[in-house]
Amino acid sequence: MGMLDGKVALVTGSARGIGQAIAKKLAGEGADIALCDLKAEWLAETAAIVEAAGRKVKCLEADVSNAAAVDTVVSGAIEALGKVDILVNNAGITKDTLMIRMSEQDWDSVISVNLKGTFLFTKAVARPMMKQRTGCIVNIASIIGLIGNAGQCNYAASKAGVIALTKSAAKELASRNVRVNAVAPGFIQTRMTDGLPEDVRKRMLDAIPMGRFGTPEDVANVVLFLTSDASSYMTGQVLTVCGGMVTA
Ligand code: NAP
Repeated sequence: MGMLDGKVALVTGSARGIGQAIAKKLAGEGADIALCDLKAEWLAETAAIVEAAGRKVKCLEADVSNAAAVDTVVSGAIEALGKVDILVNNAGITKDTLMIRMSEQDWDSVISVNLKGTFLFTKAVARPMMKQRTGCIVNIASIIGLIGNAGQCNYAASKAGVIALTKSAAKELASRNVRVNAVAPGFIQTRMTDGLPEDVRKRMLDAIPMGRFGTPEDVANVVLFLTSDASSYMTGQVLTVCGGMVTA
């Protein structure tokens, strides 16, 4: 018996990286999965993983910062799989540079995808989840949203916003048995971090008490906990998954 038998989960940005690992983990515990990314055809690999776990899958495409597209994804998921019990807001981007060199466009696009996208999806599932008197939302933030980082003021602000949104939505939805929590990963090995210069990677590694980078599965395990009944009395919380980099 899986921890999520009978549940339906919607995972954004699930073509690869952490989103793909989350979809795999939740499907492995019995959930049917609605996948969403910028292009539906990029989701074929993740869809095959979900199907191999014996679960139903629906691939949907949207730019998470587009309100109409987000509503279409949520209604498409409900039409195909019957309901949405779990939403994981995972889609995210970086456009790193020092603040004095950062363009307005670099600021706007990161805030739009990371923060507005999380708001739009949370809003779109809130009504059906409140109606069904159960639901679970997990937002993928970042330790950078807690501690800041030179060269990432747009990303840090977006993830700090995601944390504040998580806490506010948790308070609004708690009475209807809809829980909202966040996971704040540290340095996780995905395409997002593969492109960093070697000296930056070495500096990051030196700052990780556990002495290794995280894996997408490290994050997916904590998302599973937050989407399962094992965390049934937790809402509005932020769990860091960072090998001890941030301890308060
Ligand atoms: P990733 O490998 O770049 O995957 C992100 C996924 O989101 C990609 O499939 C991407 O599609 C998709 N996406 C981007 N913009 C989108 C949009 N507007 N609409 C829909 N989908 C979109 O990144 P990751 O490392 O797995 O990161 C996943 C989440 O974890 C992000 O929120 C990130 O901020 C967070 N995080 C990552 C780390 C880390 O060290 N990797 C640390 C802390 C937090 P494309 O193929 O088009 O890019």
